[in-house]
Amino acid sequence: MPDPTRDRELRELVRDFRNYFEYLAGLGLKGWPRVTIKAEEYQPVAVVETLEDIRRDLGDCTRCPLHRGRTHLVFGEGNPRAELMFVGEAPGEDEDRQGRPFVGRSGQLLTDIIVKGLKMRREDVYIANVVKCRPPKNRDPLPEEAQTCLPFLHRQIRAVRPKVICALGKVAANYLLETTEPLSKLRRRFHDLEGIPVMPTYHPSFLLRQPEMKREAWEDVKLIIARLRQDNDQPAHS
Ligand code: URA
Repeated sequence: MPDPTRDRELRELVRDFRNYFEYLAGLGLKGWPRVTIKAEEYQPVAVVETLEDIRRDLGDCTRCPLHRGRTHLVFGEGNPRAELMFVGEAPGEDEDRQGRPFVGRSGQLLTDIIVKGLKMRREDVYIANVVKCRPPKNRDPLPEEAQTCLPFLHRQIRAVRPKVICALGKVAANYLLETTEPLSKLRRRFHDLEGIPVMPTYHPSFLLRQPEMKREAWEDVKLIIARLRQDNDQPAHS
């Protein structure tokens, strides 16, 4: 029987091991660390890689067929310590040309949501996509393409560790939350991703086609604003 939770945990374990060995390699250590430690003294060490590390690892990626049609790989951009992270689906034509996420018409609407709605600067947030190369004719990424690219997005999320993630559209929401539920059932409430609240909302390109739904999206944005404010009002734990 497929067990998505166990599979996810296994994938994370493998990723954590890989990060740890990459970290050790970075320190010039090879093989297993020769450390004897009493079980009761063991403290897990969180090795958080930087966005630069992840970008370097991604390199001139040829891991899935999408690389064949790309002009530029679109890694993501923004504040590496952003409190708010947006996750879209995939680069479109403008993003592919410029190598930056959300720079076309839907990007302009996303910028408006950030600046006018959230009263933040675009450079204060971090913006990334489920896949980093443009799918042909802007089709949805295929499951194999998304699964190949997703580990990099998860690593970006761990590196930034935002207070809130906003998933833009069904594709981003479904892959981030490992569900196939329609967006209508997912939005208007927070979901958990490794302890980070995720708010799914409409994709800006959908809002461009159906501007009357902006009112609905605003409800989601207001919940994000309240959550960020609530987090900032709470004293930090030591
Ligand atoms: N649509 C997306 O989902 N991502 C982009 O970067 C641009 C358009």
